[in-house]
Order: sequence, then structure tokens, then C-alpha cells
Amino acid sequence: MRMNLHMDKAIRDMQRNMEKTMKHVRKPYKSRTVMRFPKKKKMTYPMASIRYGLRPFGDRDRDGVANVFDCKPYDIKKQDARWCADIGMFTIDRPKQSCRHATPFCAEHCYNKKMYKVFKGMKKKDVRNEQDWKNWSGRQWKEHLDKKRKQTSRVRLMSRGEAFSDDKDVERVKDILEHNPKRTFWIPTRAWHDPHLKQRIEQEVESYPNVRVLYSTDPSDFETGEYEKTKGHNTMFFGDDDIVEKGDSMGRKFVKCEKTYEHKKDVCPTCEEGCFKKDEEVHIHLKEH
Ligand code: SF4
Repeated sequence: MRMNLHMDKAIRDMQRNMEKTMKHVRKPYKSRTVMRFPKKKKMTYPMASIRYGLRPFGDRDRDGVANVFDCKPYDIKKQDARWCADIGMFTIDRPKQSCRHATPFCAEHCYNKKMYKVFKGMKKKDVRNEQDWKNWSGRQWKEHLDKKRKQTSRVRLMSRGEAFSDDKDVERVKDILEHNPKRTFWIPTRAWHDPHLKQRIEQEVESYPNVRVLYSTDPSDFETGEYEKTKGHNTMFFGDDDIVEKGDSMGRKFVKCEKTYEHKKDVCPTCEEGCFKKDEEVHIHLKEH
């Protein structure tokens, strides 16, 4: 009996010693790679693609709009309507490829072409501009413009490039106009050279109260006989300063643009007799400068 008691005690001591020793044995190290990401707004596009499994330009969260919650390129702070100090308003830009209705005169004096020569980053910027234009809804442009501190009651489409390159652009412009009823959009365009687009602009766009569409014209339009097609529409003319005195083929009375005649900056937001004139046909003459 006594022998058994000794044996039990010896076994218990042994077990206790073993447990003590076991506590000091380290658990095997399991290797685990943890990817650390910065805050959402600081993520680069590749980081965001991994973190959220993004598809480029897709509506990842299926809420019906491609926005910041889908991926960074839609981050409202990363996109821009450009403030153009020269005219004193925000403008949206597009690359020169959008100018599908450019005349020979226009192609020769292309503002976009000059910009591409002077600024190296233009091409890259225009890729983003075009993505913005094609992916943003009218509501998103509204949210974007609402955040601006400078005036947004008048906005220009486009200062570089063409607003109505194709049918989809007509829909885009209509969407912008519908979602921004308190803003007036100034749209100089050469799309009137395309009979189909001209008809759509006349019937579907010009009826909005918050738009001023002006048909851009130049000396090429006289040579080709296209100029007559601008009858009954607001126009802008550039390329021959004598036309103001001698008159055009339709006997139009031109309004001398204050900005180009008097070299004034920032006058477009308050100009009442020029491009923004309401309920009256206007023909603006832009002086060569
Ligand atoms: S006519 Fe008036 S709104 Fe049009 S470009 Fe000249 S200053 Fe600006």
C-alpha cells in the first residue's frame, strides 16, 4: 500500500515537472504575409486594385455609378474641371482627337496642337480628361462643381476639344444640363458640320434653358460654302478681322467680343451682350490676338 502511494507521488511529480518544461518550449512559428495598405485616399491604383479587387472603371460595388467607392480614378479630388483664368470660368477639356469636325483653318491654327508642343505632360493629362468625360455622369459633374470656391454659374464645354464628337456626347451633355439647372453651359461647337449631329443638337440640346450653343465658324466655311448652314443659329467667328466692317455673306451684325477686342480677362462670367445673351440670335466676332 505504502509502496503504491510512493509510486503515485513520483508519477505526479514527474508530470508536474514535464508541464513546467513544456511551458518553456516555443510554439512553432507560422509564417504569415500581411499586406499593409495606406489610407484609402493615399492608395495608388495598383494598391487599390489588390486591396479591393477592382476592375478598372467598373462599378465594383454595383450601386449603379462608377465612383470613388469603386476605384481611385473616380476620386472626386483627383478629377478636374480646369479653372481658366483667361475667361474666368471652369472648363472641361478634351484631347484633339475629339475634334472630328475640324475645318482646314481650324486644324492649321489648332490651339490644342500648340499646347501639345509647349507642355510635355499634355498627352497624359488628356488621357485622364477623356476618361473623366466618358465616365462621369451629370450628377458627378454637379458634385464636383459644387465643391469649387470660384464661380461655377457659367461653365464652358470645351476650351480644348469638341463637346459633340458623336452621339454619346449628345447624351453626356444632356445629362450634365439636366443635373446642373442653375449653371449655364457655354458650348462653342463645330459639330454642326455633321448633319446628323446638327439635327440632334437643334432638337435635343438647344431647347435647354441653361445652355448657349454657338456654332464655331472660320474662313474655311466661306470657301466650302458651309457657312450658309449656320443660318438661324448663334455663331462665333474667328480668322478674319475685316469681316466686322465688310459684313459676311448673310449681312450679319457682329458683336465685338470684349475679351479679345479690349484684351480683358475674366469678363465672360459677367458678359451679357455676347455669348450668353438670351432670347436673341448672336454672332460673336473674336479678334485675332
Ligand atoms: S463675347 Fe463675351 S462671353 Fe463671349 S468670349 Fe467674348 S467676352 Fe466672353
